[in-house]
Amino acid sequence: MKGKIRSQRRGFTALSRRDFLRTTALAGATITLGNVSSGSLAREVAAVPISTPTWVDKPMRWAQLTLVEDDPGKFEPQFWLDYFRRTRSDAVCLSAGGCVAYYPTQIPFHHRSQWLGDSDPFGQLVAGCRNLGMVVIARTDPHATYDDVHDAHPDWIAVDASGNKRRHWASPEMWVTCAHGPYNFEFMTEVKKEIVARYGVDGIFINRWDGSGMCYCEHCRKTFREASGRDLPRTTDPQDPARRAYILWRQQRLFDLWQLWDREVRKINPNSCVIPNTGGGATSSLDMKTIGELAPTLIADRQARRGLTAPWANGKNGKEFRAALGRKPIVGIFSVGLEEPHRWKDSVQSDAEIRIWVADGIANDLRPWFTKFSGVLHDQRWLRVVEEIYRRHAGWEKYLRNEVSLARVGLVYSQQTAWFYGGERAGARVEDHTLGWYQALIEARIPFEMVHDRLLDAGHVDRFKALILPNVAALSDSQCRQIHEFVGRGGSLIATYETSLYDEWGVRRNDFGLADLFGVNFKGGPEGPMRNAYLRLEQDRTNPLLKDLEDAQRIIHGVWRLDVHAREKFSNPPLTLIPSYPDLPMEKVYPRVGRTDKPEVYLRELKIQNARAAQTELSRSAVSTRRDSNDRDAPLLTSRLAYFPWDIDRTFWEVLCVDHFKLMRNAVEWAANEEPPVTVLGPGVLDVTVWQQKRSMTVHLVNLTNPMMMKGPLRELIPIGPQKVRVRLPSGRSPRRVHLLAANETPRVKRAGRYLTLTVPSILDHEVVAIDL
Ligand SMILES: [Zn+2]
Repeated sequence: MKGKIRSQRRGFTALSRRDFLRTTALAGATITLGNVSSGSLAREVAAVPISTPTWVDKPMRWAQLTLVEDDPGKFEPQFWLDYFRRTRSDAVCLSAGGCVAYYPTQIPFHHRSQWLGDSDPFGQLVAGCRNLGMVVIARTDPHATYDDVHDAHPDWIAVDASGNKRRHWASPEMWVTCAHGPYNFEFMTEVKKEIVARYGVDGIFINRWDGSGMCYCEHCRKTFREASGRDLPRTTDPQDPARRAYILWRQQRLFDLWQLWDREVRKINPNSCVIPNTGGGATSSLDMKTIGELAPTLIADRQARRGLTAPWANGKNGKEFRAALGRKPIVGIFSVGLEEPHRWKDSVQSDAEIRIWVADGIANDLRPWFTKFSGVLHDQRWLRVVEEIYRRHAGWEKYLRNEVSLARVGLVYSQQTAWFYGGERAGARVEDHTLGWYQALIEARIPFEMVHDRLLDAGHVDRFKALILPNVAALSDSQCRQIHEFVGRGGSLIATYETSLYDEWGVRRNDFGLADLFGVNFKGGPEGPMRNAYLRLEQDRTNPLLKDLEDAQRIIHGVWRLDVHAREKFSNPPLTLIPSYPDLPMEKVYPRVGRTDKPEVYLRELKIQNARAAQTELSRSAVSTRRDSNDRDAPLLTSRLAYFPWDIDRTFWEVLCVDHFKLMRNAVEWAANEEPPVTVLGPGVLDVTVWQQKRSMTVHLVNLTNPMMMKGPLRELIPIGPQKVRVRLPSGRSPRRVHLLAANETPRVKRAGRYLTLTVPSILDHEVVAIDL
C-alpha cells in the first residue's frame, strides 16, 4: 500500500497541470482535483477498508479534561470522576502525552510532568472512567517540545522562512515542532503505541497535530522537492505553482501521518482508532471529502464565539461536518470560557451563552463535548450549567439519535474555491458569501443542510429540492456536469456572482461553467467596489421574488457585480440595475442613469419530462425505449434556476439589509417550489431543524433572539412565543404522540393529511417538538 502511494506521488510530480487534465479527461475521471491529491489517498483507503470501532456510535455526551503540567498531586481525580457521573457523560478524552506525559513513560525525550513523581494520574483517571463504563480516548499534543529534544534532534524543530528554528510563541522556553518529519512520523508514533499498549484506550485524539504554519526544515524541503520537483513556496498566492503544489502536498503528508498512526494503534487495539482534531467548512485546509472517508467519527472543534459571531456558528459546524461524514457520529467541542484571541483559557462564560451555544450544536446533530483545561478549577461557575445541559440531554436522548435530516435545501461549500480562488482572502471572497446565506436561511426559518462540492452525486444531493451556490467560483467541468444532472432530475438552483467562472484550480474560464443553466454568458467585470448603486423594482409586483417588497421602488445594490449577457429572452425581469452615482458632494448625489434594462437577477423555469428514466443506470437503448413508451405518462418536473450576477449574499452578511434578506428568502421559497417540511410562525430569531429518528421525528427550535446575538456573550435568555408550528410527517407514517420536551407538555395538535399544526407557547432556549411515529 505504501509503495502504491509513493508511485502515485511520483506520478503527480511528473504531470504538468495540462497533462493531468488531459489524462483525466481521457479517463473520464469524475473530479479532477481528487486525482492529484487526496482523492488518490481516498482510493487507497477504500481498497483496504478500515473497520469502524464498535464503540463510536455509543457515546452521546463527552467530557474532556486537559491536564496542565502542575496538576499531578494537586488536582482531585475523584472530583472529576464524580462530575463525569453526575453529568451522565458516557465518553471522555484525557490528557496522556506528547508535549507533557501524565504517565510514567519509557520513551526517550517524552517529557514527564515535572510534578509526576511516582504517580500515574492518567492511569488513575482511565481506571476510574472504566469503572463508570465510559469510552476512554487519550489526548496527545505534539506541537511543542523542549531544549533536550532541540539539542539531540535539531531536525525535529520547525524552521521559519528565514531559516531559524522556531521558539514557541506563547511558551518561549519551548520549541515548535515540525509536523511533516520524523518528530511526528517516528517519535509521536512510539508515544501513541505506548499509550495504547499500556492502557488499552479506545482511541487517540490528536490535537494540534497538523503543524503550526509553514515549515522550512530540511525534511519539509526534501520531501516537498521529491513530491513536486519544486522548492517550498515563498508566497501565499494560490496561482503560484509551488504554492498550489504545497496546498496538496501538505494534505497528502498529513493524511499519510494520520493513517500511519491509525494503523499502528489498531495493530495493538483493533477496536480503536486515531481521531484527528481537524475539519471544518470552506476555509479549512484538509479536504473534508477524504476526512469523511477516513474518519469513523469526528470532533468539530469550535469552542465558543469570538468577535462578530452568530450563535448559529456552532450548528454550522455540525452541518459542514455532516456534509462529509453522513451518518457517522459527529461531536461538537464547546469550552466554558471566553474564546477571544486574547485567550483567557481559565475564564468562564455566562450560563446563557453556554446554553445557547450548546443548544444550537445539539439542534444540528452534534453530540456535546465539554472541554476544560486544568484539573484545578479557578472558577467553578460553569459546573452547574453544564450538568443541567447534560442531564437534560440524557433525558432527551432517544430523540437525539437522528437518522436523517428532513431539510430540502442544501447550501454548497467549496474548499477548492477557498484554496485556489480565495487564497489569503478566502474569508471575504468565499466564506462571507456562505455566511450571508446562512444568516438569511436562519432568519427565514428554512431548515437546510450543507453540501460539500466534491459530493454532488445523486446519492448526496437528491434529497434536496434546491441547492444554493454562494459564489462557488471554482468548479471543475465534472462538478458542473453533476449540477446539470441534478437540475435534469428536477432539482432547483440558486447561484450568485462568480459561481463556476473558474475551474477547480482557480483559473478563470472564458465563460461560466454553468452558463447554459444561468441563461447568461459572462461579459466583463467584476465591477466594484460599487458605491451608491441601486436596484430598481420593476412594475410587475406579482413576481414572487418581490414578496414583501410591494411598496418599494428601489433598494440598495451590492458591492461587486459582473456584466453578463442574456442567452435568451428574460421578459419582465423583477430587478434592474441603477448604476453607481457620486455620493459626495451632496449636491452631486443624483442618479445619472435613472433606469437601465440590465436585469440583476435571472430567473428561469425548466420543465423536465421523464427525468427518472434518464437517471437509471440502464443502457442507452433501454433508456430510449423507456422514454418512447413513457413520455406521455411521465410527470413533468419543474426545475427553477435563479442567478444573481452580484454579491447579494456577501453584501447581506456585511450590511444585513432587510431588503436583501427578503430577496434571498423569496428566491429560496420560489426555487424550492413546495411547502417546506416545517414552517414556524411567531416573533424572534429561531434556528429550526427537522430530523427523523428510528421511531420518531423532531423539530428543534433554538431561540437566538437576543441583543447579543451577533457579538458579546449573552447576558440572559429571553423567552419568545407563541410559535405556530406546521410540520410534514414522513410519508406513510402516523403520529402516535406529540410532546414538547423542554416544556414537558403535550400540546393540542391538529392534523390535516400529512401535516400537523400545533402551538409552542414559549421557548426559553431550546424546545424540541417530538413526534412519536
Ligand atoms: Zn518541517
